[in-house]
Amino acid sequence: MGIELGVRPYQRRFVSPLQTAHGLWSWREGLLVRLRDSLGRVSYGEIAPIPWFGSESLEEALQFCIAQNGEWRGETIPERLSATQFGLGCALAELAEAGCLTGKEPAIVDVCGLLPAGEAALDLASQRLAQGHRTLKWKIAVQAIADEIRWLDQLVKALPPDAHLRLDANGGLSLAQAEQWLMACDRINTDPQTAAIEHLEQPLPSDQLLAMQDLGRRYQTAIALDESVATLAQLEKCRAQGWRGVVVVKPAIAGSPQRLQAFCQTYRPRLVFSSAFETGVGRRAALAVASRCSSACSAALGFGTQGWFTDDWDTLTPAELWDRLQ
Ligand SMILES: [Mg+2]
Repeated sequence: MGIELGVRPYQRRFVSPLQTAHGLWSWREGLLVRLRDSLGRVSYGEIAPIPWFGSESLEEALQFCIAQNGEWRGETIPERLSATQFGLGCALAELAEAGCLTGKEPAIVDVCGLLPAGEAALDLASQRLAQGHRTLKWKIAVQAIADEIRWLDQLVKALPPDAHLRLDANGGLSLAQAEQWLMACDRINTDPQTAAIEHLEQPLPSDQLLAMQDLGRRYQTAIALDESVATLAQLEKCRAQGWRGVVVVKPAIAGSPQRLQAFCQTYRPRLVFSSAFETGVGRRAALAVASRCSSACSAALGFGTQGWFTDDWDTLTPAELWDRLQ
């Protein structure tokens, strides 16, 4: 008998549906996997796909797991199943290390707090600061640009000068709008008395890498790629095409954790690690990968997602959560 593979689907509801460039996101769906070896040692992993971000669909991940017939025989996981590569890759590594990834989450210096899109960010900002966040992230390209830039100015004035703000357009801007935003960011960033804009995340759609490189040369405020580098294969491609700026990496959908680590060690890219709204199982594994790549990563981690769901799963151990799903 090899390694026993169990898989259990989960569904969890967001307290408030998230506004994404692809509509409202109300339920986070994914899979927990459990491996058990012949010595009875157990490890858990999470497959948390975001298909509109470039990973496989939940259905494809589930099909792959079901096709294993309850036993892991070391089959190669196809590249397009990037979330499956991560979930099973972490569970296998944990089993091999006999559980050294379990236990507490790695210590985190700074976690980025999320703000809701639109004017609501102004109300929530003080709450996020009170929770200890010094880096906040705000979704833009959701409402009229003139309104959003006006709210940005108000938001920056309301934040302490040592705070940092990340703006995330999710690829939703035109070139002219991106220029308007970058002008506003550069104007804000020339004032040392106010909070700084750390970066503008994915201003243009993911296929417009050259245009974003050009923007990066013309404005002071950094541009970070996110949707353009959802998977390791895309990350490698952007690097080959000359991108040396900031990249946002969501380990849960990037692919093999070992390959991601090797990439980071070889090229030392400017990384911001980010959540894919996974459960504690995927979160712990993603943070472990982030901390192993930490020499390349000094920016606040984008993992401020606890408390976004209606359930109490954040308080459960992997084993408790697994039992809850049966
Ligand atoms: Mg983003």
